Amino acid sequence: EALAVTFNQMAIDLKAKIDEIETANQELLQLDQLKSKFISMASHELRTPLIAIQGYVDLIREGKGGAISPEQHKMLDTVSRNATRLARIVTELLDVSRIEENKLVLEFAPVSLQTAIQDIAEEQQPYFASRGHRLTLELENDLPPVNGDTDRISQVIINLLGNAIKYTPDNGQIMIRAYAEKEQVHIEVHDTGIGIKPEDIGKLFKRFSTLGDITKHRTGKNEFMAGGTGLGLSIVQGIVQAHGGNIWVESEYGKGSIFHVTLPIATELTVSTTITPIAQ
Ligand code: ADP
Repeated sequence: EALAVTFNQMAIDLKAKIDEIETANQELLQLDQLKSKFISMASHELRTPLIAIQGYVDLIREGKGGAISPEQHKMLDTVSRNATRLARIVTELLDVSRIEENKLVLEFAPVSLQTAIQDIAEEQQPYFASRGHRLTLELENDLPPVNGDTDRISQVIINLLGNAIKYTPDNGQIMIRAYAEKEQVHIEVHDTGIGIKPEDIGKLFKRFSTLGDITKHRTGKNEFMAGGTGLGLSIVQGIVQAHGGNIWVESEYGKGSIFHVTLPIATELTVSTTITPIAQ
C-alpha cells in the first residue's frame, strides 16, 4: 500500500516536471522564432538606406555636388569601405533569413565545377599572394557537372577558400580537390591552418559562431579577409543542403582542416529550373 502511494506521488512529480520542461521548450521555440523574425526584418530594413548611402557617396566622389579636396576624398573612401562592409553583413543576414524561412531561390542547371573552381582560383589569386599562400588544384579529369545554382555553388567555394586564407598563418598550403564518387561530386578544401578543436566542430555551422581564440589569428588586410560575422559557414551549409548535398569538416588542431562538400551529379533529366523550396 505504502509503495503504491510513493509511486503515485512520483508519477505526479514526474508529470509536473515534464509540464515544466514543455513550457520552457515552448518559450525557447518562441524566442527562436522571434530571433528569426528580427534577423529577417533587420536585414530587409537595412538594405534600402544602405543603398542610398552608397549611391550618394559615389555621387560626391565623382564631384557631382562640386569639387572636393583630396582629404575629403580620403574620408569618403573610408565611408565607402565601411558601407561596403555593412552591405556584406546585410547580404549575409538576408541569406540566413532566406535559408531559415526556406525561401532560398535556386536556379538549377548543370554546373561545371572544373570551370567554376578554375575561375575562382584565378580571381582569388591576389588574396592568396598577399598572404604568401600557395593554392593547388587537383581536379579529376572529366569531372561530371553537378546539378545546381552556379552563383550559389561559387559562393560556397569562395567562402571555404576565404576561411582557408583567413585561418592559415602566412605562407600556407591550400588545396582544392574534386572527384566523382557514386552519384556525387566530392569537393575538398584543405588548409594548413590553425585547425579546429574537436569540441568546437559541432558549433562551426551554427549561426553567429566564431570560435574563442580566433581573433588573434585574423589578419584583415583587405575586404575579402575582413573580420567575420560567424554567419559564413551556416550559409554555406544551408546552400549545400538545399542542393541535396552534404558538408562536414575534418580537422587537427594546430595543423589544419579539410572541409568536405558533396553535390549531386547532373543527370540527363537535369533541366534548368527555378526552385523555391516550400516551407517544411
Ligand atoms: P566567419 O565569418 O567568422 O569566418 P564562419 O561561419 O565562416 O564565420 O566560420 C565560423 C568560425 O569557424 C570562424 O570564426 C572560425 O573560428 C572557424 N573556422 C572556419 N573556417 C576555418 C578554417 N579553415 N580553419 C580554422 N577555423 C575555421
